[in-house]
Amino acid sequence: MNLRIPGPTPLPPEVREALQTQMINHRGRVFGQIIGEVTEGLKHFFQTENDLLILTGSGTGVMEAAIVNTLSPGEKVLSVSIGNFGDRFASMAAKFGVDVTKLQIPAGHAAQADAVAQALDADPGITTVLVTHNETSTGTTNPLESIARVVKQRGKLLIVDGISSVGSIDLKTDEWGCDVVLSGSQKGWMVPPGLAFASVSPFAWERHAQAKLPRVYWDFSDAKRYLEHGETPWTPAVSIFFGLQVALRMMREEGREEIFARHGRVAQRCRDRAVEMGLKLFADPHHASNTVTAFYTPEGMDSRPLANMLEDEYDTVIALGQGAYTNTSLRIGHLGWVDEHDIDLTMDSLEKVLSRATAKG
Ligand SMILES: *Cc1c(COP(=O)(O)O)cnc(C)c1O
Repeated sequence: MNLRIPGPTPLPPEVREALQTQMINHRGRVFGQIIGEVTEGLKHFFQTENDLLILTGSGTGVMEAAIVNTLSPGEKVLSVSIGNFGDRFASMAAKFGVDVTKLQIPAGHAAQADAVAQALDADPGITTVLVTHNETSTGTTNPLESIARVVKQRGKLLIVDGISSVGSIDLKTDEWGCDVVLSGSQKGWMVPPGLAFASVSPFAWERHAQAKLPRVYWDFSDAKRYLEHGETPWTPAVSIFFGLQVALRMMREEGREEIFARHGRVAQRCRDRAVEMGLKLFADPHHASNTVTAFYTPEGMDSRPLANMLEDEYDTVIALGQGAYTNTSLRIGHLGWVDEHDIDLTMDSLEKVLSRATAKG
């Protein structure tokens, strides 16, 4: 099957093999060696010297973790949203009683640093900024470096949902001053869903010490304390650790910059092919994502039957649009284990499906 959704993503054979490893004692020395190695590997791709915690859960779980570990009820937060995942971050914080001001950017557009600066200057009581690096619902990447600059100039805590970008798109955690950066195993990491990652800066730890939201399963201090002994506080998704160890070795071998460059080439190929077919891309071309491409279906064509035809007749799976654009847009994931050939296969099949759907008209 040609699985081209923005997570879960396909698994290389070496990773699939590692996933079959017999269980081990998660409080034993072998596990301690594995968690040590993968933590170092993840830090390399997060481009950070900060603490890097591996939690068992999905991306949304680590978003919740970021909130409960750094914030208090009534605390003022600016939540920058350019789509569904940005909306999710804002609504999660609000449900925890955080005082959320939302900077809402129209779908398909990125947030500009000036707009973030203005929103922060309008309310000096804001302590923290939540922002999505790569908005998977619209295939749009925020200019995080410039956004981070205005946030750090004002001394705020910066929490970044990098779930569909870290490891695939350049995100310089330390250089840009991102305090908490999140990712999830099933996106660019070539492993199944089950693990989520958070990098935590010294400033974030200071906030953590004062944060009053209740936290149990997600408590960062427990995760850090156990990691010092090569363990996790609760039973982790051990199998995903086996897969991740192999996947990170493969990624190290390919090289960080090479991986980013490959994602750039693959995304460009995907967009070029879509435009050649006469499809209208969803994202502002200046901020189009290198991990997911979203486009509108041709006028009057519903996304669902097109996706079903692709799956039934070409064994190719792509994602529907999200939210208000479910019926009128489609998304192709190109992150993790992917090259130009995979995209050509996908786009060749899509072209055939579209031409037949048009003929039936
Ligand atoms: C996938 C994704 C999430 C949610 O992750 P789950 O693993 O589905 O909980 C959050 N944010 C972004 C940007 C994502 O791509």
